[in-house]
Amino acid sequence: MEIREEMSSFERVEAMFKGESTDRVVLGWVRVVEAGLGLPKVTVTEVVTDKRGYKLYKGIKKLYERYKTDIITVYTYTTVEAVAMGTKDKYFPDQLPAPMEYAIKSPEDLDKIKIPDPRVDGDLPCIYNCLRSVSREFGNEAIITSGTVGPFSVAARIRGLWQICYDIMRRPWFAHDIINLATEACISIIEGWYEAGALGTSSGAGSETTIGAEHFRQFVVPYERRYLRKAKRMGYLSFSRHLCGGPSASIVVDELRNIGLDILPTLVWGAYESADHMLEKKRMFAQYAPMVAVGGVIKAAETVALGDPKTIEREVEHIIRTCAIGGKYIHLPDCCLPPTTPLENLDAFIISAKRIGRIH
Ligand SMILES: [Zn+2]
Repeated sequence: MEIREEMSSFERVEAMFKGESTDRVVLGWVRVVEAGLGLPKVTVTEVVTDKRGYKLYKGIKKLYERYKTDIITVYTYTTVEAVAMGTKDKYFPDQLPAPMEYAIKSPEDLDKIKIPDPRVDGDLPCIYNCLRSVSREFGNEAIITSGTVGPFSVAARIRGLWQICYDIMRRPWFAHDIINLATEACISIIEGWYEAGALGTSSGAGSETTIGAEHFRQFVVPYERRYLRKAKRMGYLSFSRHLCGGPSASIVVDELRNIGLDILPTLVWGAYESADHMLEKKRMFAQYAPMVAVGGVIKAAETVALGDPKTIEREVEHIIRTCAIGGKYIHLPDCCLPPTTPLENLDAFIISAKRIGRIH
Protein backbone atom coordinates (compact mmCIF):
# COMPACT_ATOMS: atom_id res chain seq x y z
CA MET A 1 0.00 0.00 0.00
CA GLU A 2 1.39 3.37 -0.97
CA ILE A 3 1.49 5.83 1.90
CA ARG A 4 0.42 9.36 1.15
CA GLU A 5 3.39 11.64 1.55
CA GLU A 6 2.96 15.15 2.82
CA MET A 7 6.44 16.58 2.42
CA SER A 8 8.60 17.15 -0.63
CA SER A 9 12.07 15.61 -0.55
CA PHE A 10 13.55 19.08 -0.04
CA GLU A 11 11.34 19.79 2.98
CA ARG A 12 11.93 16.33 4.40
CA VAL A 13 15.73 16.48 4.13
CA GLU A 14 15.88 19.94 5.65
CA ALA A 15 13.65 18.95 8.56
CA MET A 16 15.65 15.75 9.08
CA PHE A 17 18.97 17.65 9.32
CA LYS A 18 17.42 20.07 11.80
CA GLY A 19 16.05 17.22 13.91
CA GLU A 20 12.43 18.17 13.24
CA SER A 21 9.71 15.60 12.58
CA THR A 22 9.16 14.26 9.05
CA ASP A 23 6.29 12.36 7.43
CA ARG A 24 8.62 9.40 6.85
CA VAL A 25 12.27 8.52 7.08
CA VAL A 26 14.60 10.14 4.50
CA LEU A 27 15.73 7.69 1.83
CA GLY A 28 19.26 7.93 0.53
CA TRP A 29 20.27 6.61 -2.86
CA VAL A 30 20.43 2.86 -3.42
CA ARG A 31 23.81 2.75 -5.00
CA VAL A 32 23.40 -0.46 -6.90
CA VAL A 33 25.78 0.65 -9.51
CA GLU A 34 22.86 1.19 -11.79
CA ALA A 35 24.60 -0.86 -14.38
CA GLY A 36 22.28 -2.36 -16.84
CA LEU A 37 19.05 -2.08 -14.93
CA GLY A 38 17.61 0.25 -17.53
CA LEU A 39 18.68 -1.63 -20.62
CA PRO A 40 18.66 -5.37 -21.26
CA LYS A 41 21.95 -7.25 -21.60
CA VAL A 42 24.20 -4.32 -20.88
CA THR A 43 27.55 -4.95 -19.18
CA VAL A 44 29.03 -2.94 -16.30
CA THR A 45 31.89 -1.98 -18.63
CA GLU A 46 29.48 -0.55 -21.21
CA VAL A 47 27.71 1.52 -18.55
CA VAL A 48 30.77 3.04 -16.91
CA THR A 49 32.61 3.79 -20.17
CA ASP A 50 29.62 5.30 -22.00
CA LYS A 51 30.74 8.91 -22.32
CA ARG A 52 27.22 10.17 -22.92
CA GLY A 53 26.15 8.69 -19.59
CA TYR A 54 22.96 7.47 -21.23
CA LYS A 55 23.10 3.87 -19.99
CA LEU A 56 23.76 5.07 -16.44
CA TYR A 57 20.90 7.54 -16.74
CA LYS A 58 18.53 4.77 -17.85
CA GLY A 59 19.48 2.65 -14.84
CA ILE A 60 19.03 5.56 -12.42
CA LYS A 61 15.70 6.51 -13.97
CA LYS A 62 14.38 3.00 -13.56
CA LEU A 63 15.43 2.81 -9.92
CA TYR A 64 14.22 6.30 -9.06
CA GLU A 65 10.83 5.77 -10.60
CA ARG A 66 10.46 2.56 -8.63
CA TYR A 67 11.55 3.90 -5.24
CA LYS A 68 11.23 7.71 -5.29
CA THR A 69 14.16 8.17 -2.95
CA ASP A 70 14.82 11.66 -1.59
CA ILE A 71 18.37 11.68 -2.87
CA ILE A 72 19.85 10.53 -6.18
CA THR A 73 23.60 9.99 -6.29
CA VAL A 74 25.21 9.86 -9.72
CA TYR A 75 28.47 7.95 -9.61
CA THR A 76 30.11 4.92 -11.19
CA TYR A 77 33.19 3.25 -9.68
CA THR A 78 35.61 4.23 -6.93
CA THR A 79 38.72 4.45 -9.12
CA VAL A 80 37.08 6.69 -11.75
CA GLU A 81 39.01 9.78 -10.56
CA ALA A 82 42.35 7.92 -10.58
CA VAL A 83 41.74 6.47 -14.05
CA ALA A 84 41.21 10.02 -15.35
CA MET A 85 44.68 10.80 -13.92
CA GLY A 86 46.49 7.86 -15.50
CA THR A 87 45.86 4.78 -13.34
CA LYS A 88 45.06 1.77 -15.53
CA ASP A 89 42.10 -0.37 -14.59
CA LYS A 90 40.91 -3.77 -15.67
CA TYR A 91 37.24 -3.78 -16.74
CA PHE A 92 34.76 -6.61 -16.12
CA PRO A 93 31.32 -7.43 -17.56
CA ASP A 94 29.58 -7.94 -14.19
CA GLN A 95 31.61 -6.05 -11.61
CA LEU A 96 33.29 -2.70 -11.21
CA PRO A 97 36.68 -1.93 -12.75
CA ALA A 98 39.70 -2.48 -10.50
CA PRO A 99 43.19 -0.93 -10.69
CA MET A 100 46.01 -2.83 -12.40
CA GLU A 101 48.74 -0.21 -12.69
CA TYR A 102 49.02 3.03 -10.71
CA ALA A 103 49.77 6.43 -12.24
CA ILE A 104 52.52 7.44 -9.80
CA LYS A 105 55.44 5.04 -9.52
CA SER A 106 58.12 7.50 -8.38
CA PRO A 107 58.40 11.16 -7.28
CA GLU A 108 59.23 12.23 -10.87
CA ASP A 109 55.81 11.04 -12.00
CA LEU A 110 54.13 13.75 -9.91
CA ASP A 111 54.94 16.37 -12.54
CA LYS A 112 53.41 14.29 -15.31
CA ILE A 113 49.98 13.97 -13.74
CA LYS A 114 47.41 16.48 -14.86
CA ILE A 115 44.39 17.68 -12.98
CA PRO A 116 41.42 15.99 -14.67
CA ASP A 117 38.65 17.86 -16.45
CA PRO A 118 35.48 15.88 -15.67
CA ARG A 119 33.91 16.85 -18.97
CA VAL A 120 36.54 15.06 -21.04
CA ASP A 121 38.98 12.90 -19.08
CA GLY A 122 38.78 9.14 -18.61
CA ASP A 123 35.36 7.81 -17.67
CA LEU A 124 34.35 11.01 -15.84
CA PRO A 125 32.22 12.30 -18.78
CA CYS A 126 29.81 9.40 -18.11
CA ILE A 127 29.02 10.88 -14.70
CA TYR A 128 29.06 14.48 -15.94
CA ASN A 129 26.60 13.87 -18.78
CA CYS A 130 24.40 11.59 -16.70
CA LEU A 131 24.24 14.27 -13.99
CA ARG A 132 23.02 16.76 -16.57
CA SER A 133 20.25 14.42 -17.70
CA VAL A 134 19.25 13.38 -14.18
CA SER A 135 19.16 16.93 -12.83
CA ARG A 136 17.15 18.12 -15.83
CA GLU A 137 14.59 15.37 -15.34
CA PHE A 138 14.46 14.87 -11.56
CA GLY A 139 16.12 17.97 -10.12
CA ASN A 140 12.79 19.44 -9.01
CA GLU A 141 11.83 16.32 -7.04
CA ALA A 142 15.01 14.81 -5.62
CA ILE A 143 18.27 16.14 -4.29
CA ILE A 144 20.91 15.34 -6.87
CA THR A 145 24.35 14.59 -5.52
CA SER A 146 27.72 13.49 -6.82
CA GLY A 147 31.21 13.51 -5.40
CA THR A 148 34.54 11.79 -5.36
CA VAL A 149 36.16 9.23 -3.07
CA GLY A 150 37.94 12.23 -1.54
CA PRO A 151 41.56 13.43 -1.40
CA PHE A 152 43.14 10.55 0.51
CA SER A 153 41.39 7.78 -1.40
CA VAL A 154 42.18 9.38 -4.76
CA ALA A 155 45.83 9.60 -3.63
CA ALA A 156 45.73 5.91 -2.69
CA ARG A 157 44.32 5.09 -6.11
CA ILE A 158 46.92 7.00 -8.13
CA ARG A 159 49.78 5.72 -5.98
CA GLY A 160 48.54 2.36 -4.67
CA LEU A 161 47.41 1.80 -1.09
CA TRP A 162 50.49 -0.14 0.08
CA GLN A 163 52.78 2.35 -1.59
CA ILE A 164 51.14 5.39 -0.01
CA CYS A 165 51.21 3.72 3.41
CA TYR A 166 54.93 3.12 2.87
CA ASP A 167 55.35 6.78 1.83
CA ILE A 168 53.53 7.95 4.97
CA MET A 169 56.03 6.05 7.11
CA ARG A 170 59.24 6.60 5.16
CA ARG A 171 58.90 9.80 3.14
CA PRO A 172 55.89 11.74 4.38
CA TRP A 173 56.76 14.74 2.17
CA PHE A 174 56.03 12.61 -0.88
CA ALA A 175 52.73 11.39 0.59
CA HIS A 176 51.74 15.01 1.24
CA ASP A 177 52.63 15.97 -2.35
CA ILE A 178 50.45 13.18 -3.73
CA ILE A 179 47.48 13.99 -1.47
CA ASN A 180 47.84 17.65 -2.33
CA LEU A 181 47.58 16.80 -6.03
CA ALA A 182 44.63 14.50 -5.34
CA THR A 183 42.88 17.31 -3.45
CA GLU A 184 43.22 19.63 -6.45
CA ALA A 185 41.85 16.85 -8.67
CA CYS A 186 38.85 16.30 -6.39
CA ILE A 187 38.11 20.03 -6.39
CA SER A 188 38.27 20.19 -10.19
CA ILE A 189 35.96 17.19 -10.49
CA ILE A 190 33.26 18.46 -8.14
CA GLU A 191 33.37 21.84 -9.85
CA GLY A 192 32.23 19.94 -12.95
CA TRP A 193 29.54 18.08 -10.99
CA TYR A 194 28.21 21.37 -9.64
CA GLU A 195 28.05 22.84 -13.12
CA ALA A 196 26.19 19.71 -14.28
CA GLY A 197 23.54 20.11 -11.58
CA ALA A 198 24.67 18.42 -8.34
CA LEU A 199 23.51 20.12 -5.12
CA GLY A 200 25.22 17.83 -2.64
CA THR A 201 28.70 16.35 -2.76
CA SER A 202 30.62 13.59 -1.01
CA SER A 203 33.84 11.82 -0.14
CA GLY A 204 35.14 8.73 1.57
CA ALA A 205 36.19 5.20 0.59
CA GLY A 206 37.97 2.22 2.06
CA SER A 207 41.53 3.56 2.04
CA GLU A 208 41.14 5.80 5.08
CA THR A 209 39.97 2.97 7.31
CA THR A 210 43.29 1.17 6.90
CA ILE A 211 45.34 3.91 8.60
CA GLY A 212 45.48 4.85 12.28
CA ALA A 213 43.99 7.88 14.01
CA GLU A 214 47.22 9.91 14.07
CA HIS A 215 47.83 9.42 10.35
CA PHE A 216 44.17 10.17 9.72
CA ARG A 217 44.60 13.52 11.50
CA GLN A 218 47.70 14.36 9.43
CA PHE A 219 46.93 12.94 6.00
CA VAL A 220 43.16 13.01 5.71
CA VAL A 221 41.61 15.78 7.82
CA PRO A 222 43.40 18.92 6.52
CA TYR A 223 42.97 17.99 2.85
CA GLU A 224 39.36 17.09 3.25
CA ARG A 225 38.63 20.35 5.03
CA ARG A 226 40.14 22.20 2.09
CA TYR A 227 38.01 20.17 -0.35
CA LEU A 228 34.91 20.80 1.66
CA ARG A 229 35.46 24.54 2.09
CA LYS A 230 35.86 24.81 -1.68
CA ALA A 231 32.68 22.82 -2.16
CA LYS A 232 30.80 25.22 0.05
CA ARG A 233 32.19 28.20 -1.84
CA MET A 234 31.09 26.64 -5.14
CA GLY A 235 27.53 26.53 -3.84
CA TYR A 236 27.03 22.98 -2.59
CA LEU A 237 24.33 22.63 0.05
CA SER A 238 25.21 19.34 1.72
CA PHE A 239 27.97 16.80 2.14
CA SER A 240 28.01 13.09 2.68
CA ARG A 241 30.98 11.34 4.20
CA HIS A 242 31.32 7.58 3.79
CA LEU A 243 32.92 5.52 6.52
CA CYS A 244 33.89 2.34 4.72
CA GLY A 245 34.52 -0.98 6.44
CA GLY A 246 38.20 -1.49 7.30
CA PRO A 247 40.45 -2.43 10.21
CA SER A 248 40.39 1.06 11.76
CA ALA A 249 36.81 2.09 10.92
CA SER A 250 35.75 2.08 14.57
CA ILE A 251 38.72 4.29 15.49
CA VAL A 252 38.68 6.85 12.68
CA VAL A 253 34.92 7.39 12.99
CA ASP A 254 35.70 9.69 15.93
CA GLU A 255 38.13 11.68 13.78
CA LEU A 256 35.42 12.45 11.25
CA ARG A 257 34.12 15.13 13.59
CA ASN A 258 37.21 17.18 12.65
CA ILE A 259 36.67 17.11 8.91
CA GLY A 260 34.06 19.72 8.40
CA LEU A 261 30.88 19.09 10.29
CA ASP A 262 30.69 22.84 10.82
CA ILE A 263 30.96 23.61 7.10
CA LEU A 264 27.87 22.00 5.56
CA PRO A 265 24.95 19.83 6.74
CA THR A 266 26.68 16.45 6.72
CA LEU A 267 25.72 12.80 6.56
CA VAL A 268 28.26 10.38 8.06
CA TRP A 269 27.23 6.98 6.74
CA GLY A 270 28.66 3.50 6.55
CA ALA A 271 30.27 0.85 8.65
CA TYR A 272 28.93 1.42 12.14
CA GLU A 273 29.11 -1.71 14.29
CA SER A 274 25.44 -1.77 15.28
CA ALA A 275 22.34 0.38 15.54
CA ASP A 276 23.34 1.33 19.10
CA HIS A 277 26.84 2.28 17.97
CA MET A 278 25.40 4.49 15.23
CA LEU A 279 23.04 6.14 17.71
CA GLU A 280 25.95 6.80 20.06
CA LYS A 281 27.89 8.46 17.22
CA LYS A 282 24.84 10.51 16.18
CA ARG A 283 24.82 11.91 19.72
CA MET A 284 28.57 12.49 19.65
CA PHE A 285 28.43 14.40 16.34
CA ALA A 286 25.58 16.52 17.70
CA GLN A 287 27.98 17.90 20.31
CA TYR A 288 30.16 19.28 17.53
CA ALA A 289 27.71 20.56 14.96
CA PRO A 290 23.95 21.06 14.76
CA MET A 291 23.31 19.37 11.39
CA VAL A 292 24.96 15.96 11.23
CA ALA A 293 22.98 12.90 10.21
CA VAL A 294 23.98 9.24 10.30
CA GLY A 295 23.06 6.20 8.21
CA GLY A 296 24.34 2.74 7.39
CA VAL A 297 24.86 -0.36 9.55
CA ILE A 298 22.86 -2.79 7.36
CA LYS A 299 25.40 -4.74 5.36
CA ALA A 300 25.16 -3.97 1.65
CA ALA A 301 26.69 -7.24 0.45
CA GLU A 302 25.89 -9.80 3.18
CA THR A 303 22.39 -8.61 4.01
CA VAL A 304 20.89 -6.55 1.19
CA ALA A 305 22.50 -8.39 -1.74
CA LEU A 306 22.68 -11.93 -0.35
CA GLY A 307 20.12 -12.03 2.47
CA ASP A 308 16.40 -12.79 2.24
CA PRO A 309 13.66 -10.14 2.23
CA LYS A 310 12.29 -11.09 5.69
CA THR A 311 15.67 -10.66 7.41
CA ILE A 312 16.19 -7.37 5.61
CA GLU A 313 12.81 -6.05 6.77
CA ARG A 314 13.55 -7.04 10.36
CA GLU A 315 16.89 -5.24 10.30
CA VAL A 316 15.37 -2.16 8.66
CA GLU A 317 12.76 -1.95 11.38
CA HIS A 318 15.33 -2.36 14.14
CA ILE A 319 17.62 0.35 12.73
CA ILE A 320 14.81 2.85 12.16
CA ARG A 321 13.29 2.29 15.60
CA THR A 322 16.71 2.77 17.18
CA CYS A 323 18.20 5.62 15.17
CA ALA A 324 15.54 7.69 13.42
CA ILE A 325 13.96 9.22 16.51
CA GLY A 326 14.87 12.88 16.66
CA GLY A 327 15.72 13.00 12.94
CA LYS A 328 19.31 13.18 11.72
CA TYR A 329 19.01 9.76 10.14
CA ILE A 330 19.11 8.80 6.44
CA HIS A 331 18.16 5.30 5.39
CA LEU A 332 20.82 3.59 3.27
CA PRO A 333 23.01 0.47 3.48
CA ASP A 334 26.54 0.52 4.92
CA CYS A 335 28.32 0.61 1.54
CA CYS A 336 27.69 0.47 -2.21
CA LEU A 337 25.38 -2.35 -3.23
CA PRO A 338 26.74 -4.95 -5.65
CA PRO A 339 25.32 -4.64 -9.21
CA THR A 340 23.85 -8.14 -8.78
CA THR A 341 21.55 -7.22 -5.83
CA PRO A 342 18.08 -8.77 -6.47
CA LEU A 343 15.24 -6.30 -6.87
CA GLU A 344 13.04 -8.09 -4.28
CA ASN A 345 15.76 -7.50 -1.68
CA LEU A 346 15.97 -3.82 -2.62
CA ASP A 347 12.18 -3.66 -2.38
CA ALA A 348 12.38 -5.08 1.15
CA PHE A 349 15.06 -2.58 2.08
CA ILE A 350 13.24 0.49 0.80
CA ILE A 351 9.54 -0.19 0.88
CA SER A 352 9.64 -1.46 4.48
CA ALA A 353 11.48 1.74 5.47
CA LYS A 354 8.75 3.85 3.84
CA ARG A 355 6.06 1.81 5.62
CA ILE A 356 7.45 2.17 9.12
CA GLY A 357 5.73 5.46 9.05
CA ARG A 358 5.86 8.76 10.76
CA ILE A 359 9.08 9.49 12.58
CA HIS A 360 9.36 12.09 15.30
ZN1 LIG B 1 32.22 1.48 1.52
